Amino acid sequence: MAMLFDGKRALVTGAGKGFGRAIAKKLAECGAETFALSRTQADLDSLKLEVPTINILNVDLLDWDKTREEVSKIGHIDLLVNNAGVSKKSSFINTPKENIDMMFDVNFKGTFNVSQVIAKKMIDSGKGGSIVNLSSTMSEKALTNGCVYSTTKSAVDMLTKCMALELGPHNIRVNAINPTVVWTDLTLQYKDELMPLLALTPMGRFPEIEDVVNAVVFLLGDQSGMISGECLRLDGGLGVH
Ligand code: NDP
Repeated sequence: MAMLFDGKRALVTGAGKGFGRAIAKKLAECGAETFALSRTQADLDSLKLEVPTINILNVDLLDWDKTREEVSKIGHIDLLVNNAGVSKKSSFINTPKENIDMMFDVNFKGTFNVSQVIAKKMIDSGKGGSIVNLSSTMSEKALTNGCVYSTTKSAVDMLTKCMALELGPHNIRVNAINPTVVWTDLTLQYKDELMPLLALTPMGRFPEIEDVVNAVVFLLGDQSGMISGECLRLDGGLGVH
């Protein structure tokens, strides 16, 4: 039976844990030759054990040049998921420069850097492609102690639109997914601060990792063939406030 992404080549960043790991596994299951990029070797090794067909890449997105070098070696990619992201909460007044650099370097510049290398290959091959960026509800919602994280994600939203504008003529679609709170290593550390969002969510629940995976698959695939430049809220209606 033909699978959704048969014959496609996919790259997922931040694929060691959380969403990225689940997305990489799903894309492999759907027939894509999948490349999983992350920076903790043990996570990549355990992913490879679980799904031996997945190719693993140990790259720290904080290293701009090395990232370009390693990503360039992969060859043509049809489906790119810029998922890697970090969050370190602190008040606006007390945020040190290192935190600003670290979050912008991974969340925004990491997405920019990998996309630039991959999109150039998509253009040169003439095959086009589909790119999904992991943004967040917080790109639009101010949350106490989340100033830097939110602004990195606002930047990802605008980057998504700019990329869609410039890459559309090359048959490359670019979209973002903006989830609220899904319990992963990233969010569990801030449970007390995030729980109040539940009361504001019309559907009365937060998304599961599977909801994120399904949205990524939809936006990567041909069923969403005319959708580009979209920042898709995945929030059980929270965004209506
Ligand atoms: P996790 O912390 O569970 O996983 C993040 C993954 O990204 C890890 O494998 C991590 O590797 C990797 N990563 C982080 N920094 C780098 C780096 N410099 N180079 C390479 N890999 C890196 O996060 P989630 O799965 O929860 O989040 C995934 C994405 O979704 C992020 O962009 C996040 O901002 C976004 N998001 C998450 C939400 C949530 O509720 N969980 C809600 C909205 C958006 P390592 O562990 O080795 O650092």
